[in-house]
Amino acid sequence: MLTLDTPVSALGGVGPTIASRLKRLNLLTAQDLLWHLPFRYEDLTRVERIIDVRGNTTVSIRGKIQLISSRRAARRRMLVLEAIVADDTGSIKVVWFNQPFLSKILNPGDVLWLAGKVEHNHFGTTLVNPTWEKRDNPLHAAGIIPIYPLTDGLTQKQVRFFVHQVLPLRLQLPDTLPASFLANEHLLALPNALLAMHEPKSFGDVSAGRRRLGFEELLVVHLAVQQERAALEQAPGVRIPFHQENTVAFVQRLPFTLTPGQKRAAWDILQDMDKTHPMNRLVEGDVGSGKTVVAAIAILNVAAAGCQTAYLAPTEVLARQHYEKISKLLKPFGTRVALFTQATRLLTTHEKPLTRPAILQALQDGSVDLVIGTHALITGKVAFAKLALVVVDEQHRFGVEQRKTLRSAGSTGIPHFVSLTATPIPRTLALTVWGDLSVSRIPHLPSERKPILTKVLDDRNRDEAYTTILDRCGAGEQAFIICPRIETDPTGMKSATEEYERLRTGPLANLRVGLVHGKLKSAAKERAMTAFTKGELDVLVATAVVEVGIDVPNATVMLIEGAESFGLAQLHQFRGRIGRSSKASICYLTTPAKDPETLDRLNVLTKLTDGFALAEEDLNRRGPGEIWGQQQSGFQPFRVARLTDHQLVEESRAAATALLQTDPELSSAPLLRAEVLGKRAQLHPE
Ligand code: ADP
Ligand code: MG
Repeated sequence: MLTLDTPVSALGGVGPTIASRLKRLNLLTAQDLLWHLPFRYEDLTRVERIIDVRGNTTVSIRGKIQLISSRRAARRRMLVLEAIVADDTGSIKVVWFNQPFLSKILNPGDVLWLAGKVEHNHFGTTLVNPTWEKRDNPLHAAGIIPIYPLTDGLTQKQVRFFVHQVLPLRLQLPDTLPASFLANEHLLALPNALLAMHEPKSFGDVSAGRRRLGFEELLVVHLAVQQERAALEQAPGVRIPFHQENTVAFVQRLPFTLTPGQKRAAWDILQDMDKTHPMNRLVEGDVGSGKTVVAAIAILNVAAAGCQTAYLAPTEVLARQHYEKISKLLKPFGTRVALFTQATRLLTTHEKPLTRPAILQALQDGSVDLVIGTHALITGKVAFAKLALVVVDEQHRFGVEQRKTLRSAGSTGIPHFVSLTATPIPRTLALTVWGDLSVSRIPHLPSERKPILTKVLDDRNRDEAYTTILDRCGAGEQAFIICPRIETDPTGMKSATEEYERLRTGPLANLRVGLVHGKLKSAAKERAMTAFTKGELDVLVATAVVEVGIDVPNATVMLIEGAESFGLAQLHQFRGRIGRSSKASICYLTTPAKDPETLDRLNVLTKLTDGFALAEEDLNRRGPGEIWGQQQSGFQPFRVARLTDHQLVEESRAAATALLQTDPELSSAPLLRAEVLGKRAQLHPE
């Protein structure tokens, strides 16, 4: 007797070899196979009369074998099996190449389903290498044929046959969704949905099956996110009153006027923090939109209330950069700032250098208002006197649980939380996955900025880029050169170390060239970055380490080598390192690639400079499987649901809201409740 837990090896046709191949697809039990869903379908619903079959088409027919014989083709030493198959309307020639075993299975008189390509040439009309099937209810050769994900050494036919064997077990699967819910939302019950996915009778079946399975996936995420949000609204926070005087003074001292988006984002944050429950807000603004000052305004208000802020940067280099910028901005207000990194043994505030233990002490007794550091700041045992705000720069994976660990020793409040990101997140993804975050968007760059001119160069023409670099650096501006690799490796892609040597002794010998990559020691990295920031270097040859956040407004040229090896999102991030002042900037993307698809993809960057437009374009190009921003979210892609299906996303959200209104703990649907708890753990790891 098969059960859901029966190992696949117990199925007909599965020996040890096949079992090990199924294992590669994570298919270990009958239940796993039930959930191994087709990713597309072939339409063989139209079974043609043989008389109607025409050349150069794909057809499905049903007929009886009249003659069958095999021969060796003289020229290509191939085994050819030829048959004549007839139905009531006519007959057609069928050939199979190099399938010797077929001659033992197929005999005159057999009635077959056949599906495949028809070729028409001077020999006449022939069906070539068709899929064949003898059974009355075909799985492969007629109807709507599911196409499954495969691995080497497995065929569609095999997988269909295995799934067919386990399909009756679908009736034993418990349904996460209660029957009344299914009825209300017009959804198929789980067993019916699985049958519709694996062996649909119509394309209507396929969409009904998809709708049901996708609805459940989305519903679980919506419920998880909405429950998290509700939990946060119940939780105690630390109220930070708006300090108008300092805020106005701060804004007036800035050497520029804030953009409307910056003002809006700052105001959103200040209003949120002036409440009794913790804020959870995402500030989304393209690279260079000026998110740091927005954070500084929040920090200023927190300090004015006698509370502390922890600012988490993605890298040590950035932590130092933020430290320098923010301490300068906040200095007039007496805010005491500390830098906390692994790199330097001596850590500093703007008053006097402090040792690491002294900084820990200062955070604990409240004599430091702001500490800037990397993740080490929260993983270590850092105690705060009165932590009220956590700023996370360019990272999303940070949840309620982690925030709880950041509660101050003596205090009961969960700190406010603001996440800064330049990764444009398509709207549906943001709402679905980060629905527990409020979002402020900074839609425009400061108006003085000039759009970055972007050019794709065949990599034999990169001299054009060197000419520009020499020219601009001669005029006192600076340039980045980005390489895909640190050292030379078998891929043959440009390596930063090699380019650095080549350029400073060759084409760019007249310039001051520096090198930074991930394998350098932190101190060496910092030295190079600092020299570049201070203008002591003209050109910085770098790997992807410069991707996030580095702010050197004087840099106006960028050359990206091997551009085809980076994703659009990453290229946009790189490019955001230039164009950060009122000077015109130019970005060269060089590639050895010649294929239109790659060039087309890179050319998107020449047309679009807005990160949000790029994100949407990327979404359309790649499909929802690998959505921009998904990596940062640590978010598991859905099996069935598509975030591009706005209607389903909306319907499932509305259903989640309604469900929680009547039953906030989901006690009426224990299976669903368990799924949602699992998802909450996944959304907010640790
Ligand atoms: P990001 O949003 O990428 O983190 P930053 O906060 O690093 O951007 O700001 C980029 C640069 O723009 C900084 O040099 C900053 O001082 C400057 N800046 C910020 N806001 C404005 C503004 N409203 N007008 C002009 N320059 C600004
Ligand atoms: Mg930044």
